[in-house]
Amino acid sequence: MAITYPRAERAAQARSAATGLAADGIDAVLFGWVDNAGLTRVKSVPLPQLEHAAEYGVGAAPCFDLSLVDDSFAVAPSGTGPVGDLRLVPDLDRLVPLAAQPGWAWAPADRWTQDGTPHPGCQRGFARRAAEAVERRGLSVRAGIEVEWVVADATGTPATHAPAYGMTRVVEHSDYLREVLRALTAQGLEVLQLHPEYAAGQFEVSVAAEGPVEAADTTMLVRHTVRAVSARHGLRVSYAPVFTEGSLGNGSHLHLSLWRDGRNLAHGGPGRHGLHPDAEQFLAGALAELPALLALGAPGVASYLRLVPSHFAGAYRCWGLENREAALRLITGSAAGQANAEFKCFDAAANPYLMIGGVLAAGLAGLDAGLVLPPETPGDPAVTGSAERLPASLPEAIAAYEKSALLRQALGGELYEAVLAVRQAEAELFAGRADADVVEAVRWRY
Ligand code: GLU
Ligand code: MG
Repeated sequence: MAITYPRAERAAQARSAATGLAADGIDAVLFGWVDNAGLTRVKSVPLPQLEHAAEYGVGAAPCFDLSLVDDSFAVAPSGTGPVGDLRLVPDLDRLVPLAAQPGWAWAPADRWTQDGTPHPGCQRGFARRAAEAVERRGLSVRAGIEVEWVVADATGTPATHAPAYGMTRVVEHSDYLREVLRALTAQGLEVLQLHPEYAAGQFEVSVAAEGPVEAADTTMLVRHTVRAVSARHGLRVSYAPVFTEGSLGNGSHLHLSLWRDGRNLAHGGPGRHGLHPDAEQFLAGALAELPALLALGAPGVASYLRLVPSHFAGAYRCWGLENREAALRLITGSAAGQANAEFKCFDAAANPYLMIGGVLAAGLAGLDAGLVLPPETPGDPAVTGSAERLPASLPEAIAAYEKSALLRQALGGELYEAVLAVRQAEAELFAGRADADVVEAVRWRY
């Protein structure tokens, strides 16, 4: 039976939210979602329209299931690209006034069909289904995504060339960074760390772990906020996988821990480094599927200019305790609650809902199959030659994705095919182009 959209309930929630927003001086609400290419698309309504929009959604063209990084479209095999309409429905539980965009509020949106059923191509719906599948097994997941960005001046030049992790960077940009911190905090986010990163102009912020869909929502909110604060300082932001060819890129490291009955299954267990069997099987499932998962978490041609050995990007399909060259870095932390696994191979071009949903689905398959982790990789595989390289290009990741019955089943035919069409079209778009051209073409797109 079709799940029907709870219209009256949403309208009532919008009515009460609108009163508070009006008191906060909010004029308009943005409904954001991320397409399969990893670009955030948005519509907004003036505040008086919020109730109607919450009840019925606002129109959204389904052709954006096939939009590419350059705003062109992959061709739908059915020829239906320009036809039809979907409804963008805001999740008012995540509605928040934007601290660095006075007068504006934001909410992540789900996409529904016109007759009030979930759109099968909705990426956020996919992440939610994956999270629910985890919960059905009596487990829960805590997730957090690190946000790395390059900040540049109005001419597009990195705004600092001071040393990696250098105090000089903070001195040069202390007002800016303080404002980033304040804006994030004002929006109810719990910031854990804020620091200069490695590449020229690069910084990073990490926030507290939460549920998987919430973590994906949060990463979008963090990115918009950083961009908005930057704009107020006359600065531009790039989340492209690589900003400067040959240098370190912008990762989207996904931290994840599996819990049962309030207990972190990455701590105090009988397995290696304290893993409980469930956590090991889950991580083994994700590790086994990583080549195919790259089509979700490293979605662009430029992603593979970042995902190279000795760039802290996790270019090898292996795992290791605190190993920053392993795609899967195990972190035991200093307290039971902190132990987690970090997927380093994903980048900031990824749609976070696809990335998280895919990892959860693969992890659950690992649980079902009772997989075990292979031997640990203790050093840098580029030096020891002890681990398998992950796909080194988008076409290689596409080949792995095409073989993944697991992802086809988890995503559902419509979303799986849309992602495939977008990946193939992007590979064609940049086929034969020099690396430098690719970097330049997407530098300001994410
Ligand atoms: N910026 C690196 C990346 O591309 C990661 C650096 C780090 O280990 O945080 O993922
Ligand atoms: Mg980092």
